[in-house]
Amino acid sequence: MKGSMVKEMASDWQSPNNLELPKEELRSRLLEAQGFSKKISTLNEISLKIDETTSRETILEVLRAEVRWLIEGECAFLTLLNRNKTHYSINTLSPVADSTDMNHKLFTVDVGMPGWAIENQTGIYVDIESAPAFSPTLEGKFIEVGIKSLLIVPLRTSTEVIGAIGFGSSKLGAYNQPDMWLAQLLSFHIAMSLRHTAMFDNAQKRLSQIELVNSIASRLTSTLDLDKMLAFAAETIQKNFNYFDVTIFMVDVETQDAVLTAHSGSYIDFLPHGYRQKAGQGIIGWVAMYGEKILANDVSQESRYLSYAYHNTNSELALPIKVGADVVGILNLEDTRLHAFDETDVIILSTLCDQLGSAIHNSTLYNEVKESNRKLLELDRLKSDFVGIVSHDFRTPLSSIMLAAKSLVKKDIVATNKHFKEYLNIIIDQATKLSQLAEDTLTITKMESGQLSYYFKLVNIETLVKEAVSMVKFSNRHQLQYNIELDASFVKGDQSKLRQVLLNLVSNSVKYSPRGGKIEISVVNRDADEILLSVKDQGIGIPENQLEKLFQKFSRVDSDEVSNIKGSGLGLWISHEIIKAHGGKIWVESEVGAGSTFMFTLKKGN
Ligand code: ADP
Repeated sequence: MKGSMVKEMASDWQSPNNLELPKEELRSRLLEAQGFSKKISTLNEISLKIDETTSRETILEVLRAEVRWLIEGECAFLTLLNRNKTHYSINTLSPVADSTDMNHKLFTVDVGMPGWAIENQTGIYVDIESAPAFSPTLEGKFIEVGIKSLLIVPLRTSTEVIGAIGFGSSKLGAYNQPDMWLAQLLSFHIAMSLRHTAMFDNAQKRLSQIELVNSIASRLTSTLDLDKMLAFAAETIQKNFNYFDVTIFMVDVETQDAVLTAHSGSYIDFLPHGYRQKAGQGIIGWVAMYGEKILANDVSQESRYLSYAYHNTNSELALPIKVGADVVGILNLEDTRLHAFDETDVIILSTLCDQLGSAIHNSTLYNEVKESNRKLLELDRLKSDFVGIVSHDFRTPLSSIMLAAKSLVKKDIVATNKHFKEYLNIIIDQATKLSQLAEDTLTITKMESGQLSYYFKLVNIETLVKEAVSMVKFSNRHQLQYNIELDASFVKGDQSKLRQVLLNLVSNSVKYSPRGGKIEISVVNRDADEILLSVKDQGIGIPENQLEKLFQKFSRVDSDEVSNIKGSGLGLWISHEIIKAHGGKIWVESEVGAGSTFMFTLKKGN
C-alpha cells in the first residue's frame, strides 16, 4: 500500500522540546513527517485529477480509484445533500461500502454520522460504537461488514455545506487529527469541483432550454391552429425540460374557468381534454382568476393546492399566459421531486408564456377573421336562397294567375258561368298566396331592421283562433277540435300578428299531415298570469335532432317527404320573433310518424 498510517501527529511538532527528543523518537517523527508530506503530494495528485473532471460521475470515479491512497481504511463513501437540505444520499466509493448495500440510499439529516457532521459543520473521527446520531440502518450496516472506526468530514464550499465524505477502518481508533486535516483538504476540493460541475451542468441545461424556447417560439409564430400549437408546446416543454406532467389551460372568457386544452406527461389518462377547473379553485383556478404565477416547491405547504387521488406531485409551477392585461391561459408544470423549479426556470418559462400569449393572440385574430368571413359567406348564401325562394314562389302563383286571366279573356269562356267562377277562384287563391309571401318578405325585412311596429290591445283569444282557422283550407281528411278554457279568454297583444302566428301553425298542421287526422287547438291557463296555446296534429312529425333549428330563418326539415311539400321555412321564424316580442315562448314537441304539437305562451290581459 502506498503511504503509511500517520499516528498521533499532534500540534507539539513545533515545540522546541522536539530538539531534546531521543534519537529513536526523532527518527520516527521524521518518518511520520515524510509520510505526511507524501500524503500531501497524493492529495495534490487527486486534486489535479478532480480538476480535470466535468461531471459528478467522473469525480466519483476518481475518488473510487484514488482515495484509498490518501486515507487508510477499507471503506469510503460520499454523501450529498438534496436541494432543500432535508435528506442526504450515499454514494459508495469502495467495495466494502458497496457491500453495505447503501449506494443511493436516502437518509434524513438528523440521522447518522454524516448527518451529524453536516448539521454541526465539523469533522469527527470515532470508534463506530460511540458515534453521535448512531443509526442502525447506517452505522449498524458498517458494523455488520466489520468496520470499527469512522472518520467523517463535511463537504464545504466557501459558502455552504453540500454533503460529507466518510472513511471506515476495521481497526479501533484508526483515525487521528492529521487524517482529519487531509480529509478536510480533500473535501474542500471535492466540494468546489462538485459545485463547478453543477454550475457547468446547469449552464448547459439552461443554454439548451433557451435554444428550445427559441425554437418553440419560431414554430408558434408559423402556425395558426391553436390546438395544434398548444399541443406542440406542452409536449416539447415536458420532454425537453423533463418534467413529470405539463398542461396548458385556456381561460373561458365568460366564466374565467380554466379549460384543459393541451397535455403531455404522466397524468394524461386521468384528466380529459376539456376538463374545467373552476375560476379561483386550486392553483390553476387561482392563476386563471388573478393572473399571477404560483411557484409551489413543496405542495404540502401550499394551501391553494388541490390534491387528487392519482397525484404524486410534490412541486407545481403555474404561470399565466396573457394577452395584454387579460389572462388567456395557464402553463402548468408538475413534478414528483420536491424543489423541482427555481427562479431561472420561472424566467425561461415566463418568456415562453409571453411567446404563447402572442401566438394565441395571432391565432385568435386569425380565427375571428375566419369566423366573420364564414358568417359573411353564410349571409350571402341565405340572401341567394331568399332571392331564389322568393322568385320561385312568386313565379308559380303568378303563372297560375296569368293562365286563369288569359282564359277569362277568351270570349267563349266568359260566356259560360261555371268556368268563369273556377278561374276567378284560382286568381283569388294565387293572389292571396302571393300577397302572403309579399307580406312575409316585408315582415322579415322590417323585423331584421327593427322597424316592425306592434299595436298592443286586449285581444279575445277565441275570436283570434276562429279568425285564423277561417283562413285555413281544411280537406275532408282533417277533423278540427277546439278546447278553450273560458277564463283564459283575453290576452294583451297585437291582434293581426298573433293571428299570423296561429294561421301559420294551423296551416302547417294541415300541410304536414297529408294523410289527414285530428287537429286540436287548445288554450289553457298555464298559471295565474300566462296562457298556453297549442296546435296538435297527427302528421309526419319532426326528427328530434331537427327540432331546435326549425325556428331559424329558412329552416326546413331535411327529408324527401318535406321537400315535396311547398314551403319557404320562414313562418316559424316569424312566429318566433312575434311571440318573443310579446314576452312569450314558442316550442315544439314531436314524434316522427305520430305528429307534432306546437306550443306558445302569452301573458293574460287584465
Ligand atoms: P314552411 O312550412 O314554409 O317550410 P315554416 O317555418 O312554417 O316554413 O316551417 C318550417 C319547417 O318546419 C317546415 O318546412 C317543416 O319541415 C317543419 N314543420 C312545421 N310545422 C310542422 C308540422 N306541423 N309537422 C311537421 N313538420 C312541420
